[in-house]
Amino acid sequence: AKAQGAESIRFFNPAMQESINRRMLIESALRRAVKNNELELYMQPQVNEDREVIAGELLLRWTDPDLGVISPVEFIPVAESSGLIVPLGSWVIEQACSILQQWQAHDALKHIPLAVNISPRQFRHSHFVTHIERCLQAMQIPPGLLELEITEGLLIDNIDITVKRLVRLGELGVRFSLDDFGTGYASLAYLKKLPLYQLKIDQSFVRDMLTDVNDEVITTTILGLGKNLNLSVIAEGVETQAQLEHLRGLGCHKFQGYLFGRPQPISYWQSRLEQ
Ligand code: C2E
Ligand code: CA
Ligand code: CA
Ligand code: CA
Repeated sequence: AKAQGAESIRFFNPAMQESINRRMLIESALRRAVKNNELELYMQPQVNEDREVIAGELLLRWTDPDLGVISPVEFIPVAESSGLIVPLGSWVIEQACSILQQWQAHDALKHIPLAVNISPRQFRHSHFVTHIERCLQAMQIPPGLLELEITEGLLIDNIDITVKRLVRLGELGVRFSLDDFGTGYASLAYLKKLPLYQLKIDQSFVRDMLTDVNDEVITTTILGLGKNLNLSVIAEGVETQAQLEHLRGLGCHKFQGYLFGRPQPISYWQSRLEQ
């Protein structure tokens, strides 16, 4: 115990103290922001080969009055470790259903699905399935319009419970994309077990695909996997025409990235889609 104590003193340096302080600061600010409804949802389009919008991904945005803009890359892990992701994630799902409901009155919008990101802790919460069921029913969302983007982190343990929940949600008309595909630990054997609709090629592969042959091989492999398992495949993080052309050459038909549009307030995309 003595040796351990000495070690923790040795490793507990000022930089660590700073990052702990920042984390605590973010956690308390986030708690307040969630309570006061201060987070926003932006949307980024997903397009087909004709650049037509075929779906939208909802992404959280947060500007704290004191801390300024905080990236989801920073606050989502804090939300996850503090448990705040449960109320926050529920709010995101309610918002998604509410937007989908409003869109049902507009011909140009009513067939566009919305995708929501789901954290593992949120997925594992005991009320996850019933909450979504209630939202879908209360707002009378047609099947197939709510998509959930899950990550390979969900597949590490309790795979049987995960599959059961996915199947139950699938029966409610919910579709699943496997986000950041290729970066995690998912065993290929699981892929067949899961009621998935789509694989998302992680943006890190798309980014370096033209210069790093490994990333090109992985991209090709994911596209082949999709074809063989009868899953849709979408490439994320597409920023350049060269990347787009290369992906098309490899047989990719769905894309998301700055080349087609950045995440913007829902109203921005809504008015564009209605024109
Ligand atoms: P993600 O789900 O992989 O989302 C894609 C991220 O890539 C988004 O970052 C998006 O803005 C960014 N992006 C889109 N196109 C491009 C591009 O062409 N180039 C580059 N470099 N980046 C692009 P963002 O919005 O900062 O979100 C980061 C991560 O935070 C998300 O990664 C997701 O894991 C998480 N996140 C965001 N909103 C939510 C949410 O509502 N719930 C949960 N659980 N996680 C969320
Ligand atoms: Ca995502
Ligand atoms: Ca992703
Ligand atoms: Ca990511």
